[in-house]
Amino acid sequence: MNEYDSNRIYDLAKNIGFNKTDIKNEADCFVLNTCHIREKATEKVYHEIGRLKKSFRNLKKPLVIISGCVAQAESEEMIKREPYIDIVIGPQSYHKIGDAILNYQRKKNKINTTDFDVIKKFDELEKIPISQNKTSSYLTIQEGCDKFCNFCVVPYTRGPEYSRPFKQIINEAEALVNKDVKEITLLGQNVNAYEYIENDKKYKLSTIIRELNNFKNLKRIRYTTSHPNDMSNDLLDCYNNCEKLMPFLHLPIQSGSDRILKLMNRKHNIKYYLETVKKLKKINSNIKFSSDFIVGYPGETEKDYKDTIDIIKKVGFINSYSFLFSARPGTPAANKNKEINDLMINKKRLENLQNILGNLQFENNKKYINKFCDVLVENKLVGQNKYFGRTKFMTPVIFETKNCKNGDVLNIKIISSNKNNLFGLHKANYKEKAA
Ligand code: SF4
Repeated sequence: MNEYDSNRIYDLAKNIGFNKTDIKNEADCFVLNTCHIREKATEKVYHEIGRLKKSFRNLKKPLVIISGCVAQAESEEMIKREPYIDIVIGPQSYHKIGDAILNYQRKKNKINTTDFDVIKKFDELEKIPISQNKTSSYLTIQEGCDKFCNFCVVPYTRGPEYSRPFKQIINEAEALVNKDVKEITLLGQNVNAYEYIENDKKYKLSTIIRELNNFKNLKRIRYTTSHPNDMSNDLLDCYNNCEKLMPFLHLPIQSGSDRILKLMNRKHNIKYYLETVKKLKKINSNIKFSSDFIVGYPGETEKDYKDTIDIIKKVGFINSYSFLFSARPGTPAANKNKEINDLMINKKRLENLQNILGNLQFENNKKYINKFCDVLVENKLVGQNKYFGRTKFMTPVIFETKNCKNGDVLNIKIISSNKNNLFGLHKANYKEKAA
């Protein structure tokens, strides 16, 4: 979501005359768009500012803006602690960034804007042209969360669940497709909780997917991040009826132990999760899954940990995110320090879990060797006669071809693989090399 927000922040700054630069010391405005989901996020921001100060030691000070969830969580405190910061702006009020910059330039007064103004934000963003020019684009449809998992900071930094008006989303999708976007990933902290009601009609994530599926020039649809409890039947049905919906689902489970899921306040259990996986596999036996795992949650026993390993093997996740538990200030789990295992135990568990996930990923990639797969071309590699694209399952593919353009879907023969990538050749090229 921060990538989507960063793009929109750029569009807003562009609207008042700013342009991107790759030359750091030439910039007269820096926006650090921050994420608060992991530990030490705040400290990282101050370190980054330290580096900025060094770069600009003998130059005119640039305008420094902190946006995103760290800005939301720390607010006014940031300006007090680090006078080099000029503007602090939260994730639900960044539509005001243009006015904030102009005001600061006029009056030189420090600005702190961290209201939860999510409706106005999307109304304002709708008026600003999108400068996106990639093959694959994000589109935020929903923000915030009402689930309150005990470890998570999102409900506090992004606020309660909010679903954008259906029409507004479709308009933005049309604008993206008109800019040659071929793949749209619908975004939300709880994307499958999307629900918008207008004139007694209820719009859900499935309604959006079905609508986008009719877009002639759009090739692929994805969505992230989902909560297992919101995998409703109408959404599962989309895997039956919408050929552009990719057969790959990121479905965070966090732990394989019902006891830990309860302590986390996740509101789903293992049986339910596995039933959802089973239903989806019944619809499409090729569908693949990735997930999120927290290792060492307060109170995790060896048995709980083994249950997590079991579920990883059972589902066969093809790529996943896994982290050691880290206490986020202000969340209920932050008070459970005494119940956290010895760090060495948790680190060992994480290492073992990551090895298992890595092996699954490696073995899955190996299965493609000597097979063909459809790849959406995203870009040409700099300085090489090779291209980069992704399979339906998001796996990166680096391949050679004589002739292609971004946005093409090519049938690529996979020649080799490693844990993270597939390597291949486009048909015509393959014959030539094989001869
Ligand atoms: S459902 Fe996701 S975003 Fe919401 S509180 Fe839980 S982990 Fe955080």
